[in-house]
Order: sequence, then structure tokens, then C-alpha cells
Amino acid sequence: MLNLLDLAPADAEKVLREFAVAHGQAAYRGTQVVPHLWTKPVASFAEMTDLPLAFRQLLAEHFSLPRLPLEMEQRSVDGTRKFLFRMHDGQAIETVAIPDGDRLTFCISSQVGCALQCAFCATGAMGFARNLAVHEIAGQVRELALLDPPLRATNIVFMGMGEPLMNWKAVTEVLTILNDPKGFGIGARHITVSTVGVLPGIVALGQRKEQFRLALSIHAPSDELRRTLMPVNIKYPLADVIDAAAAFDRRVTFEYVMLGGVNDAATHADQLAALARRCQAFVNLIPLHPGGAMGFTPTAPEAIAKFARRIRNAGVEVAIRKSRGMDIAAACGQLRVERLRRRPPAAADHDREIDVA
Ligand code: SAH
Repeated sequence: MLNLLDLAPADAEKVLREFAVAHGQAAYRGTQVVPHLWTKPVASFAEMTDLPLAFRQLLAEHFSLPRLPLEMEQRSVDGTRKFLFRMHDGQAIETVAIPDGDRLTFCISSQVGCALQCAFCATGAMGFARNLAVHEIAGQVRELALLDPPLRATNIVFMGMGEPLMNWKAVTEVLTILNDPKGFGIGARHITVSTVGVLPGIVALGQRKEQFRLALSIHAPSDELRRTLMPVNIKYPLADVIDAAAAFDRRVTFEYVMLGGVNDAATHADQLAALARRCQAFVNLIPLHPGGAMGFTPTAPEAIAKFARRIRNAGVEVAIRKSRGMDIAAACGQLRVERLRRRPPAAADHDREIDVA
């Protein structure tokens, strides 16, 4: 059975039109299926009620629309919602939905676990299991659109579990599904791929004609320090990552997790500002989510503000990211890690009110 959710909308449409004709139907019957995949998703062929019953049954015999079973949901007092999906092979991944004014950002996963072992990251601690398939990545967005009431993303960030540019083959297809008007129709400027700096992937993303955004996880402004926090720096050293950012023909964002006493000194701010100036990057300072980040402490908010001012005074645009979902450990990999530690189930967490720091 062909999985329609592994295909870009144009490819699915072609297959479906040919299928319709081969089965004595008008080609447009195939086209009619396409909006039900992503744009106005339904859970099964049976629910595509604008199609004749016999044709729906025929479709169900030849094609699959795999679901991602939702195993757990947690809600933060700030409106952030975190979802744990169970894959067919028993693996679990997480997706976070973050409301902010009229925006709703989905933070999606691209791999089960991660091979990169960044010292402060909960996903790194669990190791790498496998890449996610196209339908498992785009399916996270689809599943939330199938909720009652539906959650519809205005923005997507590849900042869940995994390194998206180490799963480029699937991610490039997912970008098409997210952006295509026959897919989710989300503007390319509202879709951000976050990476530790996988150079071939940055080049490939730059070659896409759409204006997808690039975020670079910098986290340390020198090789010496970055090596200790991010082992990938040995393969892709900072200078090369900065060069790739400078060559990227669209605006890039630097992600910089503030680690108390580690990367938050004035000299780090000066070095970081110099790097950002070189590639005209926007700097995002991220307060550390302490869950899962063993051995690190967050930089105090006043110290983060001071660090930000120093960068701004050097002529670089900078923002401090609001921490969201602190009470539900909504940072990279933290839901799954919690689950593995067998914390109280979701139902209990729904009722619990915890103040967000
Ligand atoms: N592998 C990609 C995308 C996933 S992580 C990348 O590294 O960019 C998304 C972002 O969350 C990265 O910037 C990552 O460094 C950051 N992150 C990981 N653990 C964190 C923590 N404990 N607190 C705050 N941010 C964290």
C-alpha cells in the first residue's frame, strides 16, 4: 500500500489522478483527495464524504494514511501544550504547540533521539534511534490539525528532537508539504530550520528557492569552548559554520543558550557580537531549560539582560527568548525523558497549576 503522507502534494495528486483514471473514474476525483491530506485533513478515506463511497473504499484498499497515536498531552499554565506521539515501532517523539498572541508555533521533531550529544540537551542524552519518515514529521502537524478543536500552526520551528539537517532527504520533502498551498500553506518565512551547523545541509537549504529561515545553534563563541559543549564542533568547526551563515543569502538567527558561568561572560558577548556582525545575524539568547541539562545552571535574568545590552551596543540585533512551558519541561527532548523516568501521567498534570518562573 502506498503511503500518501510520504509524498509531496503534487506527487500525491499525480498518483491519485492516475489511479482514478485507471479505475474508470474522472481524473478530478484524484485531485479531490489532496486537500484531505493536509489542508483540511481528515482521519481516514471514509471521512472524505465529497467522494463517492465506492471510490473511498477503493482508495482505502490501495493507499494508507497512517496516524501517529497520541499517547500523552501536557498543558502549561502559559498555554503551551506538549504532545507525545508513539510510532509504529514503539519509539516516541514529542511536539510542542506554543501560542503567542495571534501566532501558534509548532516545535516539531525530525529524529527519534539525536546523535549530536550537546552537553545541555535532554535529547542528546537519550542517544540516536532513527530518522523520522516524511509522514512522521509532517504528521505531527497533521495530527494537531485533526484534534477537536483543531490546532493550526501559523509558524513551524524544527526545534524539537533531532538534527533536521542530518535527515535532509525527509526534511526537504516536509518543507514542501508545510509550504505548498496544496499542503499546509504556511509561508516559508514562518518556517525555521534549526541546526548545529551541518554544512552540506545548510547549502542544500540555501538552494531551495523558498525563503525558509535558518537558525544556527552557536552556544559558544570560540572553538575551545564550543568543542566542550557540542562535540559536532570537531566535524564542523565554528569558523566554517560562520562562513556558511555568511554565504546563506537570507537572514540567519544565532541561537545561544545561556549557561551560568560557562558562556555568559562579557568577553563571550563581545566575541559573539563579532561573529554575528560578520554574517549579519540576529542573536536569540535562550534561557536554559534546566530539565535534562545535568550539571548546568541558568544564567540569572539580570545577567542575561546585561549580556544582551552588550551585544546590542556592539550594533547587533538581539532578543531574549521567553521561556515557555517551564512547568511541563517543554524543551528539546524533555517530555520523552520524563516519560522514561515514569513521572505522573498527563491527567494529573492537567489539573496541576504551577507558576511559570
Ligand atoms: N538539532 C537542532 C534542533 C533541535 S534543538 C539544533 O541543535 O539546533 C533546538 C534548540 O534548543 C537548539 O538551539 C538547542 O541547542 C536548544 N536546546 C537544547 N537543550 C536546551 C535546554 N536545556 N535549554 C534551552 N535550549 C535548549
